[in-house]
Parts: sequence; C-alpha cells; structure tokens
Amino acid sequence: MDRPPRRPTSTPADKPAGSPAKRPAAAPAAGSPVRLRESLLDKLRDRSWRAGDRLPTERALCDEFGLSRTAVRRVLGDLRARGLITQVVGSGTYVSTTVAQALSDMAVGQAAASTSPAELMGARVVLEPALIEMAIGNATAADFARMDLCCDEGEAAPSLEQFEFWDGQLHEAIANAAHNAFISGVFRQMNAVRAQGEWGMLKRRSATPERRAEYEREHRALVTAVKARDVERARAHCMTHLLHVRWNLLGY
Ligand SMILES: [Zn+2]
Repeated sequence: MDRPPRRPTSTPADKPAGSPAKRPAAAPAAGSPVRLRESLLDKLRDRSWRAGDRLPTERALCDEFGLSRTAVRRVLGDLRARGLITQVVGSGTYVSTTVAQALSDMAVGQAAASTSPAELMGARVVLEPALIEMAIGNATAADFARMDLCCDEGEAAPSLEQFEFWDGQLHEAIANAAHNAFISGVFRQMNAVRAQGEWGMLKRRSATPERRAEYEREHRALVTAVKARDVERARAHCMTHLLHVRWNLLGY
C-alpha cells in the first residue's frame, strides 16, 4: 500500500489552522482528499485515536488539509459508512466503538485485492491438503450434505461463473468441516480472492468443457474419500485436484 509518510508530530486538532510550514517536503500536496483519508486512517490504525475519541471539527480538517467542506464531508461519510467513525449532529465526529472490526474488515479486503492468482494457488496447495485430516476428524452429517450439495449444484450450473462459485463453496465446505473459526475465516478470504477479477479472467481463459468435467469428477472423488473418512485417499485426491487446477491456470 502506498500510504503517505506518517507525520510524526501533531494531530490536526492541536495544530493551528493553515500552518503549512511544518509539512514535510515528501507529503502529497494540500487539497488532496486522499491525503486526508490516509491521515485519518493512519491515526485510527496506530491507535493515536481510539474508540470514543473525538475527531477534529470539519472546519479544522478543511483548514489543515486545504479542502472544501464538501470534500471533507465526503471523506468522513466514507469512513462512517465503513463503521470507522460516528457523527452526532451538533456534537461532532467520534471514533466508532466498532473501529477495530471495521479496520480488520478493510485489511481483509485489501489483502484479497492485492493477492495474485499465483499466490492464492500457492496458499491453497499448502493449506487445503493440510486441513483434510482435521476436516475428516470433525465433519458432521450436515457437513457431508453440504459437500454433496456443492457437487450437485456445480454439476448442474448452467454457466462457468456459477460452476466456479460452487467450486469455491465446495472447498470452503470441506474447510468448514474442520469446525475451526480461524480456518473458516481464512477460506472466506480465499473465496474473496477468487471472486475478484484476475482469478476469474484466468479461469475463463483456461476453461474448457473437458476441464470442467474433470474438475467435477475430481470433486466427487474427493468428497467420496472425505465421507469415507479416509484421510490418505482424501489428501491425495485433494492434492491431485489442486495441482491440476494450478497447471490449467498457471502452467506449472
Ligand atoms: Zn475445485
């Protein structure tokens, strides 16, 4: 991420209006809403401002960042929509009590957006076979039913996009069978990467009816082994499938 250099000294609140003399030479030019946004986010991330703290007034932010009232309101409105701040009419702007969760949601989104298909595939090849044993150990009948449903829906999917969706859901269902909230969170993030543009483009470019049919067979074989609680066989099917997907997608 290209955040502007952190300014070590004062907050906008304790700085007299319009004192550009102390601004470091490398900082982006005044009048940039991006600079205001990043400055506010920096203070939330490094906890200079904590839940319940009051932000500088709109007027102070206008002066500090050389922005119009409309531009400042737009930036604050975006932060409010993300759950980072709250605004109380006649009182001011405050750091939201949900700021930690909101920052974490933003970080997940950014990580997904900056993950390449090659990185995602690298992570899948390491993680998915590794959690098979835990999934098999903890899977319930409901988990098995979900896996079957994902296979059924994938095979019936009229479009490649829908097949890809159910493909992602199947891999997530197997991970969810581990019944470990952290692992489930990682897989939700992996599906967020799959949902973004570059992966979809690669998938479309590499897609043929033959390959889809092969993936469907591999999914069934994997689910059959998982349902039989056969760890070795399930892990082997999982690895074969992932290496096949990687070969089709990335050519190695
Ligand atoms: Zn798959």
